[in-house]
Amino acid sequence: MTASQASEPAGAATPATREMADDPDTTGDEDVLLSVRNVAKHFPIREGVMQRVTGQVRAVDGVSFDLRRGTTLGLVGESGCGKTTLGRVVAGLETPTSGGVYLHDSTGHSPAGLGSVSIDRLQGRAARYFRRNCQMVFQDSFSSLNPRHLVRDIVGRPLKVHKEASGTELTERVVELLEQVGLGRQHLYRFPHQFSGGQRQRISIARALALDPEMIVLDEPTSALDVSVQAQILNLLHRLQTERGLTYLFITHDLAVVRHMASEIVVMYLGRVAEAGPTEALFADPIHPYTRALLRSSPDVAGAGDATMQGLEGNVPDPARPPMGCRFHTRCEVATPACGWEIDDVINRLEDVPGMFDELVGVERRSRFDADLVFDDDTSAHRLADALEGAEVPVSMTAAIETVSVRERAVSIRFREVPEVTLTVRGGGRRAACVLED
Ligand code: ADP
Ligand code: MG
Repeated sequence: MTASQASEPAGAATPATREMADDPDTTGDEDVLLSVRNVAKHFPIREGVMQRVTGQVRAVDGVSFDLRRGTTLGLVGESGCGKTTLGRVVAGLETPTSGGVYLHDSTGHSPAGLGSVSIDRLQGRAARYFRRNCQMVFQDSFSSLNPRHLVRDIVGRPLKVHKEASGTELTERVVELLEQVGLGRQHLYRFPHQFSGGQRQRISIARALALDPEMIVLDEPTSALDVSVQAQILNLLHRLQTERGLTYLFITHDLAVVRHMASEIVVMYLGRVAEAGPTEALFADPIHPYTRALLRSSPDVAGAGDATMQGLEGNVPDPARPPMGCRFHTRCEVATPACGWEIDDVINRLEDVPGMFDELVGVERRSRFDADLVFDDDTSAHRLADALEGAEVPVSMTAAIETVSVRERAVSIRFREVPEVTLTVRGGGRRAACVLED
């Protein structure tokens, strides 16, 4: 993906077309601690007794961004859009299917060779350096803390594994860590279930701090907590960041939390970045229709827009078969004919219309944009052809149809083919993947 590949559909405005550079070194920015470049993570779908691979869940599908040293980057989006998967790739817990995560050495402390080598290709000392420096805190402290281990062993385990300390020295280091997160010596010999949710999250944070990392991936760290406890944990994270110069990748679906915590935001939709930019600019003036819908659906985010307008409607499509063009076009209020309308949309839009597909016997696809829908009788065929120009489908979808013809019992439909909508650079350090201009 380089400069000129962004789509330039006729009839739609053409935004600036510079993509984020592939090469993580071209940022030329000393402040960048970590670069994520074109990261994809696909999970195979297996079916049947033979467990044959029948498809791929494209959980993360080509994501790029930079994380600045000492700052917090918020990663937001609806459930299922790939946030946790991306967080796990960034923390080195999951190997990307393609693309890379690069930890930049500008401190001079890291082993040689770390510079711009993708984490999944790091070995030996450099790999250990990465693992120490990039920790993760999970949403669910019940499953992330071993219920049969004492707090001393949970928090002390990274120190033991990395041979940093043992015996009484380890115990004293654990006490220091517990004190940093508002707990103390009296908690050393207790089990996770003896704590409240907020305290368990403090234990998780203490464990993440054990090896004195440069960055922490926080995956919905407060989503399971009561509001009052949430605020305490957020304050703790904030204080630790200031004291230790920590860098956070903060994953959440809570826009009020992210606005409070993050200086930059990446909005994900179905495995891709819809929009990214500085927090205040993004909240004040969202570019992508998905960002706008997200803000509207979150009434507690002050000044987020017109409260009378609807938020997000409909479900997130199946990540194993993401929509063509812009992945959000199926739910977008301002979709244009250039947004990727395809045969699947015809079926999805009209399948709830009584009787529409009762007589359908098959769909012969030439591509995702071009197919014959074959019925048992010609009345049904004509009915579908008429519906494609009616009120049951969006005007922009009708306008995207290049040809539609009925031959006996078959309806031939061909949409105009559009490429995937790529992220383009807008003004003020912002990026958005939309065919419409700002
Ligand atoms: P989020 O954190 O934004 O809710 P996830 O990263 O958990 O999203 O999931 C993204 C998509 O990937 C979902 O459709 C989810 O079902 C799928 N997924 C996540 N982990 C796996 C896995 N280990 N195997 C198969 N599919 C997965
Ligand atoms: Mg998640």
